[in-house]
Amino acid sequence: MRPHAIMIPVPYQGHINPLVGLAINLASRGFTITFVNTHFVHHLLSKTHSDVNDHQTDMFSEARKSGLDIRYTTISDGFPLDYDRDANVEKFWDYMLEDFVVQVEELIRNIVKSCDFPAYRTLLITDTFNPWHAKVAKNCNLVNVSFWTQPALVLALGYHLDLLRKNGHYPPREEKTEDTITYVPGVEPIGTKDLMSFLKEADVTVILEKLVFGAFEQVRYADFILLNTVQELEPKTVHALNQILPTYAIGPVNFSARDIKISKALVQQTDCTEWLQSKPPASVLYVSFGSFIQTTKQVIEEIAHGLVLADVNFIWVVRKNIATDSDATSVLPGGFEQRVKEKGWIVPWCDQEAVLSHPGIGAFLTHCGWNSVLESMWHGVPILCYPFLYDQPTNRKLVVDDWKIGINLCDGEAVSRDEVAGNIKRLMCGEFGEQSKKFRTLLRDSLGDGGSSDKNLERFVEDLRAKIL
Ligand code: UDP
Repeated sequence: MRPHAIMIPVPYQGHINPLVGLAINLASRGFTITFVNTHFVHHLLSKTHSDVNDHQTDMFSEARKSGLDIRYTTISDGFPLDYDRDANVEKFWDYMLEDFVVQVEELIRNIVKSCDFPAYRTLLITDTFNPWHAKVAKNCNLVNVSFWTQPALVLALGYHLDLLRKNGHYPPREEKTEDTITYVPGVEPIGTKDLMSFLKEADVTVILEKLVFGAFEQVRYADFILLNTVQELEPKTVHALNQILPTYAIGPVNFSARDIKISKALVQQTDCTEWLQSKPPASVLYVSFGSFIQTTKQVIEEIAHGLVLADVNFIWVVRKNIATDSDATSVLPGGFEQRVKEKGWIVPWCDQEAVLSHPGIGAFLTHCGWNSVLESMWHGVPILCYPFLYDQPTNRKLVVDDWKIGINLCDGEAVSRDEVAGNIKRLMCGEFGEQSKKFRTLLRDSLGDGGSSDKNLERFVEDLRAKIL
């Protein structure tokens, strides 16, 4: 008997991508999926992909042609399509935190009522950061599956906030002395500098506090928690979480159905393949800070000068809203693109997985978003870390200190062109090649037949069936 999963992502690229991967995984294992995007996300998808127009031709059209039962619908996020959500992020999240719950509950009730599955065989699978998910699952009497899109380490630290409080590490101390945290179950000693940004800053916004701390609270009520990590990457942390929560490490979820085309990019992508083809193997640095991190014009300029000083080939994703104090047309130093000529290419967005998979790529300068880290590891690409916010400093700790597949560029915003150039040169010389290949194998083995993620997903399916059938 097929289970039916209603799946709802947080409406950002870095959260949509892994949930889409999970949807394909579960559909391949016999689940029926109803995937729900906001009207706005669907609008961006249809602007970007000619094959995504309506509910008959949506982001999963190709998956359906491959025989997967993935249905699709959309919901309003409360704002008109032309509303600038980036410029009004507080207002947007205010709505998502308070009023969206009513709408989403109504939609879910309607899906359950109108579909051919009994409610007891329907589950709600949402990103843990969807602030309403525990309440809605309870009200609708659905099995509650919380999908954690960051490393297990971040979940463990957030889950044990009470321990951080008891030991005086949260709220952060006024004097910024560095300290080591040794008491969180399953977590190796970790410096306070490596904590998530929202645990290190005294003035976290009310929205962020509700969103992030709400997630660590809600996760306690989940029937199942799926982690987009690999057991062998974080063995002690995954084990310790397993003692207290029903967790299953099933990552990296983006890579299990690579032959199915999914139209998931929210922005028009530049095709970099031909350009990469013209470059020698492992000679190109890929630079990207993900889908929503913003920095300053000064940081962008230092990186630009650093790239010139390093004299390296590069592809650099410069999103139109990358800087808070400048627009895309003036964020780079004057004449920069002419100066780097054939050596460098600035693009507004690209197919990152395609770029990272190309043999021309030698290293990745990243903000350490979790998807970017996993994608880089999957392709055995060494990492230059420039974390800004949220989980990124903690992800950097894993990459640099624990797995040794990269190096750190700097902490915070004060990067210099010499630091940029020096670290690029060090990373591009091949020092981390062997270690990166080792981790590439580890990730691929985990998804292969009988690998840990494959087995954990199977265990989840069995445990779920035992609960609902
Ligand atoms: N991405 C992409 N093209 C780009 C930049 C990013 O396809 O030019 C994708 C990338 O592959 C990843 C996601 O956007 O899957 C970004 O997620 P991540 O967790 O790395 O960072 P976030 O955007 O959440 O900060």
